[in-house]
Formats: sequence, C-alpha cells, structure tokens
Amino acid sequence: MHSVAIVGAGLAGLACAKTLAAHGVSARLLDKGRAAGGRMATRRVELDGRSFDFDHGAQFLTARGSLFRATLEATHAKPWPDEARRVGVPRMSAIPRALAQGLDLTVAREIVALLGEPGAWRVRHAPAAAVQRGHVSAGSVAEDGPFDAVVLAMPAPQAAKLLSDPAPHLAAVLEQVVMAPCWTLMAAFPSRLALPDTMRMAGGPIGWAARDSSKPGRNAEHECWVVQAGPDWSRTHLELAAPEAAARLLEAFAALAGGDVPQPVHAAAHRWRYALVETPLGAPCLWDPALSLGAAGDWCIAPRAEAAVDSGAAMAALLAGAPGTAGG
Ligand SMILES: Cc1cc2nc3c(=O)[nH]c(=O)nc-3n(C[C@H](O)[C@H](O)[C@H](O)COP(=O)(O)OP(=O)(O)OC[C@H]3O[C@@H](n4cnc5c(N)ncnc54)[C@H](O)[C@@H]3O)c2cc1C
Repeated sequence: MHSVAIVGAGLAGLACAKTLAAHGVSARLLDKGRAAGGRMATRRVELDGRSFDFDHGAQFLTARGSLFRATLEATHAKPWPDEARRVGVPRMSAIPRALAQGLDLTVAREIVALLGEPGAWRVRHAPAAAVQRGHVSAGSVAEDGPFDAVVLAMPAPQAAKLLSDPAPHLAAVLEQVVMAPCWTLMAAFPSRLALPDTMRMAGGPIGWAARDSSKPGRNAEHECWVVQAGPDWSRTHLELAAPEAAARLLEAFAALAGGDVPQPVHAAAHRWRYALVETPLGAPCLWDPALSLGAAGDWCIAPRAEAAVDSGAAMAALLAGAPGTAGG
C-alpha cells in the first residue's frame, strides 16, 4: 500500500491517517467541511462584536481504552463536568484540529464519485458549497488519484451512497447500519439561567441540555446553551425548517426551566441527520481486500467518539498489514 485516499476527516479519518503515517504509509485526507472534525464540531457566532461558541456535536468524551486515553492526553482535553469526562479546550473542535496537524488534508471538497479499479482508484470531487446548492459547474469538478486504496470515514449511509456503484455488496452491508438523527439548539441568553450545568432527560422532546459556557476555557460571561432533542423527536421532526426547529426546542427548554427563561440573544438549530449509531456494524471496520475499498467510523462499533478513533486505527492497521487485526 503506497497511496491511500481517506474521505472524511472526522476522528475516524484522522485516526486512520495518523496510524497509517506511523506505519510509513502516506494518506490523502479530503473533507467537505471547512476544517477537520466532523461531528466533533464547534459553531462560532459573531454578535455585536462578541463571539459565542457552541459545541453543537459531541458534548464530552470518555475513554475506556488506552488509544483514546492517549489521544485525549495528547490533545490536552480537560475534565468536564466531572473527572470521568473530557472536553476539548478552548472548544471541542480543538481536538480534531490538533490531530490534523501535519497531515495532508484538503477541505471544502465533497467527494461525489469513486472511479477506477483496484490499485488505481480516483476520487471525483467538487466544491462542497456548490454540491449543497445543487449547482456544480463542470469547471469546478476535479479528480485525484490514482490511489491503491480508498477509505470512506463518514456516516454509514453516506458511505453506502458512494459505494453503491463500485462496491454494491459493501453498500448493502452498510445499509444494515441504523443511525439516529439529532436536532440541536444553540442558544445564548443575556443572563445566567437558574439551572444546573448539565441535564439529561428521557421521554420529552429534549434528551440533553448543557451550559456550554461552563466548560473549561470558555467565556463564562456568555450564557451559552446546547440543547439536544431526543432521537424520537428528531426523527418525527426531521424535515422541519431550522428556524422552526429552534423555536420549538426553545419552547420545550423554557418549559423545562419552569418558564423562567429570558429572550435569547441568539438561537439557531442544527440538524445532524446521522448523529449516533443505533444498530452498529459489529466489527471494527469494513474492508474488501480484493477491491482495496473500506469504510470506518463510530457506527462500526458504538455511538461514541472513542469508537471512531478505534475504528479508524483498526482500518489503518488492516491497510498496513499489521498482524492480529480483523475487519468486518
Ligand atoms: C449531537 C451529537 C452529540 C454527540 N455527543 C457525543 C458525546 O457526548 N460523546 C461522544 O463520545 N460522542 C458523541 N457524539 C458522537 C461523536 O461525535 C462521533 O462518534 C464522532 O465524532 C464520529 O467521528 P467519525 O469520524 O466516525 O464521523 P464524522 O465526525 O461524522 O466524520 C465524517 C466526516 O466525513 C465528511 N464527509 C462526509 N461525506 C463526505 C463526502 N462525500 N466528501 C467529503 N467529506 C465527506 C464529513 O464532513 C465529516 O467531517 C455525538 C454526536 C452528535 C452528532
């Protein structure tokens, strides 16, 4: 294996690239986002000359194994809200940004097709913003390659779409994976709310709410909250327009707080269509040695950031031919 393309620079893609580098294999990372990180994300909002940050993806990280413990150590993650859990400082996205240092990463390009054949794969990509708008000019489309192997390090349904042509049997396996959506409200208030820093709930629209500004390294003068809808509410309301989802979640949050919530200075909602895996693959990664195509991500193992790192590292070990590794 001499050249590998990794599509997706979330934790799985980054762990894959770093592990490959440790085995002396160079990898080219491509991501449609503005930076590395994927669901380890922070949204910055500028308002009246002030910046408000919201970790609107992963909330906190827990390490069960030594690889993720070392990753959190190396990226200077700090405890919050207790010793058992860790967050990125000064924001969650600091962790993937630190991991991306020194890697060959291209951002803001969406991979739209996998072309070629084993040993000579090419990835076709276009500006992510244009793909999202549905207006891709022929001149903005480009291809990279040839690559010996391609790894898709993205949510299973997105990987299935890209594999449906070159590897329909892999796409069929990925279609068995079920991922739940999550509508997430980001709200900033003019004064401190009389609520604990974290709240977990079941049964209602809201599953989790946290005072994001109580995390270490944040501006504690800003009363920033991240409020996640539960999977059932998110599924039922998946196609709501974002402003409508924000209004409904704000209403539910105010009810939770006993109605005693001032008008927010900022409120917006983000829809994670593929947030957390419910039915995982049940193997560390998916790899077809005959095609040299694979897929990795948290969805292989469990709905946790650690699973993404473990999956990416397992994929890399397979690619590098390390002994004692197994894929799906
Ligand atoms: C709301 C929410 C809350 C969460 N809370 C927690 C938590 O508290 N603790 C925890 O441990 N985990 C949590 N998670 C899960 C955690 O964020 C994920 O397990 C982890 O970040 C997944 O990493 P990944 O690399 O597998 O996938 P992702 O982070 O999704 O990375 C995939 C990457 O692929 C890119 N991509 C996709 N398609 C293309 C394409 N066609 N072309 C180019 N690039 C593409 C995307 O831009 C993205 O950067 C949460 C997730 C969400 C959404």
